[in-house]
Amino acid sequence: MLENLSNRLQGIFSGLRSKGRLTEEDINAAMREIRMALLEADVNFKVVKAFVARTKERCLEADVLDSLTPAQNVIKIVLDELTELLGRSDAKLELGNRIPAVIMLVGLQGSGKTTAAAKLAYRLKQQNHSPLLVAADVYRPAAADQLQTLGGEIGVKVYRHDGADPVDIAREGVQEAIDSLRDVVIIDTAGRLHVDEAMMEEARAIKEALQPEEILMVVDAMTGQDVVNVVSAFAEAVDFDGVIMSKMDGDARGGGALSVREVTGKPIKFISSGEKPDSLEEFHPDRMAKRILGMGDMVSLIENAVRLQQEQEEAEEAEAMAAGNLTLDDFITMNRQIRKMGGISKFISALPGGDKALGSGQVDEGALDAMEVIINSMTKEERARPEVLNGSRRSRIARGAGVSVTEVNQLIKKFNETKKMVKKMTAGMEQQMGRKGKK
Ligand code: GDP
Repeated sequence: MLENLSNRLQGIFSGLRSKGRLTEEDINAAMREIRMALLEADVNFKVVKAFVARTKERCLEADVLDSLTPAQNVIKIVLDELTELLGRSDAKLELGNRIPAVIMLVGLQGSGKTTAAAKLAYRLKQQNHSPLLVAADVYRPAAADQLQTLGGEIGVKVYRHDGADPVDIAREGVQEAIDSLRDVVIIDTAGRLHVDEAMMEEARAIKEALQPEEILMVVDAMTGQDVVNVVSAFAEAVDFDGVIMSKMDGDARGGGALSVREVTGKPIKFISSGEKPDSLEEFHPDRMAKRILGMGDMVSLIENAVRLQQEQEEAEEAEAMAAGNLTLDDFITMNRQIRKMGGISKFISALPGGDKALGSGQVDEGALDAMEVIINSMTKEERARPEVLNGSRRSRIARGAGVSVTEVNQLIKKFNETKKMVKKMTAGMEQQMGRKGKK
């Protein structure tokens, strides 16, 4: 997520720190570098210009340069301005008092609207809402099917009426929600490849008819410089309330995330960084700014950890581990829990200096996927009692998973190592808690 920019800025700051005292020329040089770094990250040039001007002005104030730690002061100012650029305070989803509340998603085709609708539904469901998804994208033939598949995966009902007018579908969706006692309706509207009047007209018509509590624009973080034109066009035509920034996991430059607020005045409310239903997070400008500057997003990390702890699954897992009888199914559960924390690489990059520590050696989440495919090719018995995995079973599994026997062997080896480690840990814990004697 904005890694290149993050690395560049951290480099500029270590240059400043190594200087001790700073002159006006040092500040000017640093600001020129910041300007380049932002432009290369695809942040809109007007936004960059204004940002650098504000930051520079504050940095050149006499008391900053004269202070004992001028570099620290400069970094603080950049952090502050970056937080401001990203929106200063958190902008939450506003569902109002009406039941059902209506959320409408708009955006270009391919921006990630349909997936975002499902992710939002998943999130609301977890917060004890009962959402209904409505497929009002009548132009992309597969959109309703896609939404229905996603709805099936997360257990959220999808309303569709193929061939009908989008405004009617949206209205019927709300009626369906009333009839089936659901409290939030999420409408997936049609996008086009480019900004066009017919799309805006349709979005306006749905807005007019339903007066949604929230209109969220889904913006692909990989859009590049054009993002400014796209969000401005939507802001003018539909006047949305906030943004869902999608595909933040991409390796693109991601400058859109830093431009949207300044250009439209609309806040980013969520960011999405993956294709899975749980990859939608609330957006926190301060945390994001800290993360970009390599200050480690400890708060998000702790929140994730706490949420994880609360999960029933973990309790069950701990129980299985305490008994020392780890199975390959547990192994999958462990693997999924790592992902739930946002993946190993996200975990590490959220630590102070973690982005740097990762460097180019990003942890390979693909390896986790491959592992799961192999385990899925095993029978129930094999997963529960891996010791039965002889040569012929291993080659059958390799064929089923489309991998080599060596890869299956490696997985089993890894599993056995983990099992040993878990046993050791549990023994250690029991000793510490004095449980051994009581048994
Ligand atoms: P729509 O045309 O706006 O409805 O876009 P879709 O929801 O169909 O998304 C387009 C593609 O982007 C799909 O392949 C999604 O799986 C993918 N996508 C959506 N959001 C994300 C994200 O946050 N990260 C990644 N990596 N892919 C995403």
